[in-house]
Parts: sequence; structure tokens; C-alpha cells
Amino acid sequence: MDNNGSTDILIPPAAKKAKTQPPDDSFDIKAVLSDEYKKDITLIQVHSSQVESKQQLQAVIQELAQKLPHFQHLKRVHDRSVLICPTADIKDTLEQHLKLHKISDNVLEALCRNVHVVQVPASCARLRVQYEQMIKYWPCKFHPDKYAESLQNGSNFTASQRAYHKRMAQLLRSLSQDVNEGQPVGICVDPRNPSIVAIAAGGSSGSSHQHCAMWLVDHVARSQRGGAWQTQLQFVEDEPSPTSTLRGLPRPYYDYLQQQEACRDLQFGAELPRRGEQPVADDQQADNLSKYGPYLCTGYDVYLLREPCLMCAMALVHSRVKRIFFLEQSDDGALATSFQLHSVKELNHHYEVFQFTT
Ligand SMILES: [Zn+2]
Repeated sequence: MDNNGSTDILIPPAAKKAKTQPPDDSFDIKAVLSDEYKKDITLIQVHSSQVESKQQLQAVIQELAQKLPHFQHLKRVHDRSVLICPTADIKDTLEQHLKLHKISDNVLEALCRNVHVVQVPASCARLRVQYEQMIKYWPCKFHPDKYAESLQNGSNFTASQRAYHKRMAQLLRSLSQDVNEGQPVGICVDPRNPSIVAIAAGGSSGSSHQHCAMWLVDHVARSQRGGAWQTQLQFVEDEPSPTSTLRGLPRPYYDYLQQQEACRDLQFGAELPRRGEQPVADDQQADNLSKYGPYLCTGYDVYLLREPCLMCAMALVHSRVKRIFFLEQSDDGALATSFQLHSVKELNHHYEVFQFTT
């Protein structure tokens, strides 16, 4: 290329430096669903009987529904074959089992004439993909769950939500590498704006009390004028408005992000707790965070470099976190690797879990 003026005008202007970081396509996001949403279905063996007449069939169905009420997820009759009970339930013979359950003589006789064993799905279908597998074995009842389907096929996030989650994954990497010597990092986000509420880092000591999720919960508490743990870290103490605060953000991480050209458009800060205010209740769709203001991690998303251990995962349950996103699986991880804490029905709070996949 020569330097004379006539060619200069043909040179395209230098591309403007991208204001926002382009979404990283080297990884994606998948929901970590509990076993009941897995594609593979479980089958059980069941005694079935071909009933000869329509009249008999009616009597059989009525009595079975009362005395052996199994298989709520299945159609009890298919081609005049009736499901009686799982073979595993029978201690002695089928006839004795039916007598034990006070099945009347004429129904017992009708049932014991053409008995055979069939394989049927052990539980109800949660997803259409499971339903389609199941009906190959036996007709099933199915109530489609649109949200579960969207989690399974990834359509639950809009393109911009997905791009934001991926940016947080990139931030976890860069904050860990550039500010925390490769140690784990966690970010808590209020997804309404979205806005970064708190950032925390795990120590290298290995003590589970020093894990970054534990620190993150404490830093979120700082943003609500709480926080119990002593640390040498300096925090941003500014309150940019009467209703929001940067108190959950340690200086080194906040300053680092402020210096990054690609992070200029990110929002920071947490809403301050609303003391004594009436809940905003006009919006039926509003979640508790919108209605009542911040309380623990209610309504917040947590992004973690590493899958949390059981203690951290439990701390995040107690904190009422809305969703957890993590980047790397851990040997003692309690959300995907060794356990799925979020699928334990007995817990009084359940968050959704997503994993960034490469
Ligand atoms: Zn932990």
C-alpha cells in the first residue's frame, strides 16, 4: 500500500473498538435437571391379564381401582389387557395376593385366566421425549410442562439473557486469572437490571469455610448492611443512589472491571433493603425480590467458577438463591458431579442449576 492521498480514501476506517464484549461461543449453557427429567426411562415388570368380555372388564377395573390402586401414570387397560400389580409386590402367588387384597371371586377368576408379565414405565413422563419412549411400552398419561421442556431444549433464555450469562462466565475466568491467582471466584447478580451485587473469591487454604460461595453469601449480606466475616479486603463503600449500594463489591475486583473497556456497559450495585415499606403488589407476576426488596439472596443469580461442595450448595439453599450457574465441575461438587442437591424434594427451597459447557 502506498502513502499517496488518493489511496488513503479507499482504506476503510479502522473498526471501532467493540463497546461490548462479543458473546463467547466457545461454551454454551445447559440446565442440570434431576433424574426424573433424564431421557432414559425406567421400566418395571407388571402382571397383566387379558379379560375376555366387556362386562367382566368393567367389574375388574372398578375393583382394581379400589383395592389395588396402582399405576396412576398409566392407562390401566390396553386392548382388553389390564394391569394388575408389579411382580415385585407379590410374595407368594398372584392368586394369594389378590385374595389378600379382598378381590371378589368372580374378578379373581377373570384376572387369573390369561395372566402374563409386561414391562411398563415405572413413573410418569415429565418431558415429551420421555413420553414418546414410554408409549412404546404401554399407553401413558402425560401433562406437558412447557417450562420443563424449555429448560431441556435450552429455549428458556432469550438471546440477550444467554449472552449475559456467558459474559458472566467469561468474567469468572478473567477475575480468577487476573485478580485471584487462579483461585475460584463467584459473582452474584440481581437479574432484574441485570446488575452485579457482589463478587467474592475463595482462598487457597482449602478450608470449606473459606470457599468462595460462603464468602459470596457474606458479601451479599454486606450489601444489605450485614455481613459477619472479618476480611482484609477493601470494599467499595459508595452508595450511588439512595436506594442502591456497591458495598458488596471488593475494591480489587471492582477496580479491575472498571478498567476493562469490555466491561464499560456492565451495571453494578444492589438495591438497599426496603425497611418498613409496603410490598409492591400490583404486579401479579412479580417475584419476592421485586415485591419486598432484597432479603438474603432471594431472586439473585449466582455464578461460580467451580461447582460448589455440599456445604456451599446448602448455604446457597439457605440463602434462597434463584439460580446457580457454574463453569467447572468439582470432584466434591454437589449439583452435578457427586450429588444433585437441587433435586432433593424435602428441601424447603429449590434453585435452578445451569452448567456452562465447553
Ligand atoms: Zn464449598
